[in-house]
Amino acid sequence: MSAFQISSSLQNQLFSQAVTWTLLTAKGKVAGPLDACRQELTVEVWPKVVYVRLEKNILRRECPSGVSTFISYKDYLEHAIKEAFTKATSLTTARISENYFKIQSATDPQYKYWILLDFYGMSCDCPRYKCLKKRIWSEARHLHKLIEENEILQGQIPCHHAAAVLKSLDFQNFADYFQEWPTIEKQIINKEDDEDYSEEDDSEFDW
Ligand SMILES: [Zn+2]
Repeated sequence: MSAFQISSSLQNQLFSQAVTWTLLTAKGKVAGPLDACRQELTVEVWPKVVYVRLEKNILRRECPSGVSTFISYKDYLEHAIKEAFTKATSLTTARISENYFKIQSATDPQYKYWILLDFYGMSCDCPRYKCLKKRIWSEARHLHKLIEENEILQGQIPCHHAAAVLKSLDFQNFADYFQEWPTIEKQIINKEDDEDYSEEDDSEFDW
């Protein structure tokens, strides 16, 4: 077996026991709460697939015979996208300038994260975005490829803050955002032009 291993931080963000359990439940392979099975659940992230094993335990009423199966990266990615868009619905966004937003934290409403918009997508300063941005390319190339090819993301790193900003701009997905970027960018330039003109107006007229 190769020495392929992703960092615990990337594993916790995308391939956690909790997410794995949700996926196994949706596939009808397990039932009941995860908490009683944490010790017996192994999640191994391989280069192109995730191997999941739940030890056999005849005392466990919901799933006594155990599980040994593969889950695709695609399933994990689709879960991450769904989760981001669901969480986004309860977040408040504030547009500070044309391409700069502040978004309320989902866990601490007092705290705000920022999102910067550009041609390459949206950058967020939340721990999840920063972890994925930093690690996916080097640690999980196959996932990086799926993010690039995904019709909703089109290369955008999924986080709920970016999803909230997307929604506030009235876009359904990041493909629309990238397609409309020339217009969004023009809005930014026009806004800056307007500000220049108003400054000139101020100097011309002695108010
Ligand atoms: Zn974020």
